[in-house]
Amino acid sequence: MTHGYLGKVARIDLGRRLVEVEQPDESLYKKYLGGRGLGVYYLFRDLPPKIDPLAPENEIIFATSVITGIPIAGMSRFSIIAKSPLTGGFGEAEAGGFFGSELKAAGFDALIIRGRSENPVYLSVLDGSIEVRDASPLWGKNTKEAQEEIRGELKDRLVRIASIGPAGENLVRYACIVNELHFVHGRGGLGAVMGSKRLKAVAVRGHEKVEAKDPEKVRQLQDYMRTRWKENPGSVSRSTLGTADIVMPLNALGLLPTRNFQGGSFEKAEGLSGETMKSTILTGTDGCYACPIRCKREVRAPEPYETNPSYGGPEYETIVAFGPLCEIADLGAVSKANELCNAYSLDTISAGSAIAFAMECYEDGILTKEDTGGLELRFGNADAMLQLLEMVAYRKGIGDLLAEGVKRASDKLGKGSSRFAMHVKGKELAMHDPRGKTGVGLGYALSPSGADHMQAAHDHAFAKPSRYVESLGIVEGIDPLSLDAEKVRMFVYAHLWWGLLDCLGVCKFIFIPHSAGVLTPHHLVDLVNASTGWETSLWSLMKSSERGLDLARCFNVREGFTRADDNLPQRLFDELKSGRQKGAKINEQDFQRALQLYYEMMGWNQDGVPRATKLQELDLEWTLQQISSN
Ligand code: SF4
Repeated sequence: MTHGYLGKVARIDLGRRLVEVEQPDESLYKKYLGGRGLGVYYLFRDLPPKIDPLAPENEIIFATSVITGIPIAGMSRFSIIAKSPLTGGFGEAEAGGFFGSELKAAGFDALIIRGRSENPVYLSVLDGSIEVRDASPLWGKNTKEAQEEIRGELKDRLVRIASIGPAGENLVRYACIVNELHFVHGRGGLGAVMGSKRLKAVAVRGHEKVEAKDPEKVRQLQDYMRTRWKENPGSVSRSTLGTADIVMPLNALGLLPTRNFQGGSFEKAEGLSGETMKSTILTGTDGCYACPIRCKREVRAPEPYETNPSYGGPEYETIVAFGPLCEIADLGAVSKANELCNAYSLDTISAGSAIAFAMECYEDGILTKEDTGGLELRFGNADAMLQLLEMVAYRKGIGDLLAEGVKRASDKLGKGSSRFAMHVKGKELAMHDPRGKTGVGLGYALSPSGADHMQAAHDHAFAKPSRYVESLGIVEGIDPLSLDAEKVRMFVYAHLWWGLLDCLGVCKFIFIPHSAGVLTPHHLVDLVNASTGWETSLWSLMKSSERGLDLARCFNVREGFTRADDNLPQRLFDELKSGRQKGAKINEQDFQRALQLYYEMMGWNQDGVPRATKLQELDLEWTLQQISSN
């Protein structure tokens, strides 16, 4: 009998309507743990190099971990992995909610879906049985309509569903996957991969209990978490105000991306803050499996932007992407944009960035009213923003161009528009400005899936020494603005730690080393051992994380990515135009030196390719032939 994991991975070929179940050896779980690790292992092994991400050969992998389903706050996340239609490289997105634990209860650690169905379908995964079902009547429907109909058809209100809306069907390159309407696998266009397979949704439900090897230890950790989170000011703030609790602090620091990253402060930020949301449109809160913090919001905005609370409320990234980034100060309009994105299955970060890009092009004269179909696409125009979201989801008019993401859109538009395209590897920047936290800049440049805030260590957590960061080997405070060897070393350790959280499917708010974190790295080790019965260590877990990170790097090398793709948009090397950090910029030479140092610390060569010896050390020598023949 296994503990913590089930030892079952289902392979579903939608074209051939074939379902097979693999029973991987325990060593695979020990090496890769789950989530990103397991997903990248299958993706590298199964995919032929250089396929079109929207071709049937691409796989979309839903992967839990060896601790998913253990009833402690923060163990609810799972990864969705595929070759990304937005970057053309390794794509991953994580989200919490209840789907991950329910997938385990339904009998599987992971689902690997490939092929393309002739007609729209959805998958039902119910108590160990997998069925490909007709979804023709659901095609064209938004996520809420589709999920309600599936629940009705399966006659079970508790079935958990991850689905796409029209944006996924229309292959918008940053279409997301919406689970339970407001837990969102946002980044990298994985919803378009589902759309390309004509896969409308995956529905899971089951009654299998994941057995922990040491239930008493799990109970102790539950009790610790239950009592300690309330003593932690960061967790209480997140519970009270949601992730919007950082809008005002970042605005005060001058690091709130404004006007497409031209500035760092928004004078109307208060109207978009967690405090304002709480006192105006908040109707309730929600949380993930077993989590008492409940940081998710539910809002009902009034006319003219009335919203439905079942789509949740905007989180920090969404607020900034549709707020300051587009210079929009109306919380109702931002909430409506959030609702539309969750209904259409659009990633809010990329969608907001694409609109800010278009607004800047319009104000610069690169786009005209003729191009926009009459839309006055100026910064601050909330109605134009909302109209544009629909045009993107249905690829109407200029929406068709913006649906390609800012990199492809600027390549097509020309006229110097690439200056306004804020992306790394084709993925739009998240709402954190590296000019005030250089580690985030390294994270954007070096993440295998492009500019992702969830894969970047946020520098302020390491500015002061603490017991927490000491356990990661960082014993002195590190200046958020430096790019010296100390910073790179911190980044290496923190990047591996962040990656480990994605291999284990763990909420970063519970585990990151700042005031919101409650549990420490040592608790995570205890948890893995209590769940599985292994006798692992932080060292071994960090090695698993490095294995996943290097394998994702190898995947990108095989796809033709080079050192030139580890870069930042030019704007970040230019001065911030407003806010407390006005004049701040990243020194380009220092940045290039830091990248080189990172490669060397990681055992990569000067082109950023993992050396043969490093791959041997990580038990990845089987990838060597494929990346050296690139
Ligand atoms: S802190 Fe928030 S995101 Fe994290 S598990 Fe709890 S409810 Fe989910």
